[in-house]
Amino acid sequence: MLDLHTHSSASDGSDSPRELVRQAKVRGLKGIALTDHDTCAGLKEAFAASLEVGLPVLPGVELSAEWGEYDVHILGYWINETHRDLANLMIKMRADRTCRAAKIVARLGDLGITLTLSEVTAHSTGDEHSLGRPHIARALMARGFVNSIAEAFDLYLERGRPAYVARYKLTPEEAISAIVGSGGVAVWAHPGQLAPLLLAPLVAAGLAGLEVYHPDHNPELEQALLRRAQSHNLVITAGSDAHSATGLGAKRIGLNVWSELWSRR
Ligand SMILES: [Zn+2]
Ligand SMILES: [Zn+2]
Repeated sequence: MLDLHTHSSASDGSDSPRELVRQAKVRGLKGIALTDHDTCAGLKEAFAASLEVGLPVLPGVELSAEWGEYDVHILGYWINETHRDLANLMIKMRADRTCRAAKIVARLGDLGITLTLSEVTAHSTGDEHSLGRPHIARALMARGFVNSIAEAFDLYLERGRPAYVARYKLTPEEAISAIVGSGGVAVWAHPGQLAPLLLAPLVAAGLAGLEVYHPDHNPELEQALLRRAQSHNLVITAGSDAHSATGLGAKRIGLNVWSELWSRR
């Protein structure tokens, strides 16, 4: 079985790409895709670990796009990270992450919560360009400003809360185009309730698959998404969206999906 959606410390996951691959093998998975947010920085180490432990690793990325006020995440598989448009896009998005983290820290300061950017960085194992709200939430918790990560989001970091800062806006179509343009395959991650509204235009833009099975989806939603994916002739995928090795394989799918995705390149 495959887990096609995982995050390492190259973005906001807590385990290194090597540890993730090792643990996937230990947990009996037959392959994983490494899909860090807006970066392919973890792939090299993941491939090295893939050879060491004998577990296939599918190169991936998860691009953060927005549609109106909704987050739309697009997974890219077999992307060419050196392709000009995709590379430029990832550089832009990662630079924006650093700026955004600094702006959030400044807003928290305005609210009387004094945190420094280096405290936030200390809660990240990636470089400064991979900083995200989860790292800020961990820093807030470590300093005792909140009791949990969820509380940090509820009180300060979520859209509509006082320290929320919007990020660089990428449309889902732009994300798909950058992935497909680099020779990759685009799959909509955890579409949730948005599928009825957005699926047709995204298919028209080149979407090849739908992440039907995801921890945020309940069985009814999975059934509805399955029917939609079938009616659009999309590849049906599954991913745990694990941000640490302990979550690996929470959602998994058959090995045949690997070749189905490959055939859509
Ligand atoms: Zn996502
Ligand atoms: Zn994810």
